[in-house]
Amino acid sequence: MLIISDKYPIMEENLSPDQRDHPEKSKASTRRDFLKNIGLAGVGTVAGAAALYSGHIFEAKKESSGQNKILLTQDGKLVEVDSLELKALEKSPLDQNQYHGREGIPGKRWVMVTDLSRCRNARRCIAACQEAHHLRPEQYHMNTLQMQDSPNTAPYHMPKNCQHCDNPPCVSVCPVDATYKRQDGVVLIDNVRCIGCRFCMAACPYSARIFQWITPKYAEPDKDLTYNVELNVPQKLGTISKCLFSADRLREGKLPYCVTACPNSVYYFGDENEDAVTNGTTKETVRLSKLLRDNGGYQLMPELGTKPRVYYLPPKNRLFPFEATGETKPAIS
Ligand code: SF4
Ligand code: SF4
Repeated sequence: MLIISDKYPIMEENLSPDQRDHPEKSKASTRRDFLKNIGLAGVGTVAGAAALYSGHIFEAKKESSGQNKILLTQDGKLVEVDSLELKALEKSPLDQNQYHGREGIPGKRWVMVTDLSRCRNARRCIAACQEAHHLRPEQYHMNTLQMQDSPNTAPYHMPKNCQHCDNPPCVSVCPVDATYKRQDGVVLIDNVRCIGCRFCMAACPYSARIFQWITPKYAEPDKDLTYNVELNVPQKLGTISKCLFSADRLREGKLPYCVTACPNSVYYFGDENEDAVTNGTTKETVRLSKLLRDNGGYQLMPELGTKPRVYYLPPKNRLFPFEATGETKPAIS
């Protein structure tokens, strides 16, 4: 074991080969590595660093002196940093952009209603979502599942996205506070802070999250874009992505991308506090409580206590045949 700070030992396997051979250089070079990483990641990633290392959580904010802090970087290095430098970074434009999206829209409680009796698997919602969020064709924030409740009932298509749970298990397991629920009920991911541990994927009972295993589709054209946490663009290799309820559109007073793209009036979206939702196709606004009561609205797997903010209206009285396509995913049980 090599010692960098006499208060907090650094594990030898956490150092580069050069640092192992020349321990006197370790302190300076790890500090340089950290500052280099800051340029890429911003203080959000590192201050939250929390960081899983060798399967356990390192206590990231311990001070090594009056003004220094020991932190774990994205690439697994322990570094000692002056806390004044961290303060300066907290005021950087990148940091402000990231945390703008943490606040949500005051007074709102966004809610979605999906009418299964109207879905024909047109998949325009999927295409609009993929285009807006710079996803590959095989990556879904929203997808349609092929469902059949019993052998004696007709199959139907069910669009499924993140349910924006009021009690989201994905949020409570995230070790670095990268995924969070806002005051307006939207659950987001800060891809700059995310360390790609995929705990949230395992915790989500609705399989709503995807992982960027390969270089994102628009990596090259997006390389100079400032990260927008309400859009998850640019998408980032090695992190999580999922439905955002089009938080960037909500901030502009518009309906989500998928909701307005649907040609079949499947989606309603609105504010639970106002008890009002608007249909994305017809633009008709109706009472949320009445819509749910009159049509037997329900949530997915309510017994789990996740309290989804997405409601479904059952696939009743359909006047068109079910057409299975190769693009439709098999039904979940
Ligand atoms: S559906 Fe999954 S990802 Fe979305 S808020 Fe609920 S637990 Fe989290
Ligand atoms: S993968 Fe999920 S749990 Fe892990 S850091 Fe990223 S958002 Fe948090």
